[in-house]
Amino acid sequence: MLKEISKNVVKWALLSASVLFFFGCNSMPANEPPVAEKTEDAQPAEEKKEQLVWDAGAVQLELKKLADGVYAFYPTDAKEKNSKGYPVATSGGFVVGDNEVLVIESMVNKRLAEQVMGFVKQVTDKPIRYLVNTSYHGDHAYGNYVFPKSVSIIQHRKTKEFMDNTEAFEADKQFMVQYFGANRGIEDVIARTADIVVDDGDVKTLDLGNKKVQIIHMGYAQTEGDLFVWVPGSKVFWTGNPVVAQPPALPWLLDGKHEEVLATLKKVRKFLPEDAVVVPGHGVPIQPKDIDFMIRYLESLHKEVKNAVEQGMTVEEAQKVITLPDFQGYALFGWVHSGVNVPATYKDISN
Ligand SMILES: [Zn+2]
Repeated sequence: MLKEISKNVVKWALLSASVLFFFGCNSMPANEPPVAEKTEDAQPAEEKKEQLVWDAGAVQLELKKLADGVYAFYPTDAKEKNSKGYPVATSGGFVVGDNEVLVIESMVNKRLAEQVMGFVKQVTDKPIRYLVNTSYHGDHAYGNYVFPKSVSIIQHRKTKEFMDNTEAFEADKQFMVQYFGANRGIEDVIARTADIVVDDGDVKTLDLGNKKVQIIHMGYAQTEGDLFVWVPGSKVFWTGNPVVAQPPALPWLLDGKHEEVLATLKKVRKFLPEDAVVVPGHGVPIQPKDIDFMIRYLESLHKEVKNAVEQGMTVEEAQKVITLPDFQGYALFGWVHSGVNVPATYKDISN
């Protein structure tokens, strides 16, 4: 486990270096970054130069009712930016039963966790009883410590193990600060981990009072501990990061294993009725058929990379040659596809 954690930290560190490279050197006009808009409030001059994926100090969430007692929240700029392929902050939601409430995702800092709790208060006086993190990634789980002690945290076992490792967690926080901004409350985060653990292949059914919710592990999807949340009575499904947003957003194969990711996404697609509502990890709700774009992308990626390996290409040659024109449009394409997904898949296939 320790070895695995340190491997993760190294990977994160490499990732952050490549993100900085991407955002530092991309060809977009300097005054029009594909990333967080700068806030207008007074910040030190050097902070204004930051290149953030999105700004943890500026994100505002909006609430959307999806069904009776079922709500999603997502960044106010998600609708506009998702369709243009720009990255936005984290989405989540909550489910209200006759007795209690289950929240999905605690967000990256206290400010956003408090926005989430404020949304719950807006619509019900029932207490929050459960809080699910779809992964250990900070934008989904750092806000746990802000929730009342009476709330039970639900995580996959691997998520809990990662966050319980003090060294790995502190390194992760440093990484998140680089990505989403210093002095936005990320430094203050205290790890708070699962009271209820979900294992590989588990389906945990909770009854909130005339409202059933299922917490499901379907396999490797982006991390070792991805959880999906399903409200069968309302056909609403939360994916976390494995489905980032509507097309043209692409999966981020940060830890490779593209064949396992593909198999899990196919399982998700098969599981969902056509009229289900899917809340992705970083965007407005989408339809099950939107996931087909990601499935086709992973299939094409596999085919092209396999071909490149068989032809004896180096990874650098593969990165140059495999451009998948049918799947372009994501603002992070150069970095996610060429920089992360092609090399990860190359490594998967050559081993
Ligand atoms: Zn995320």
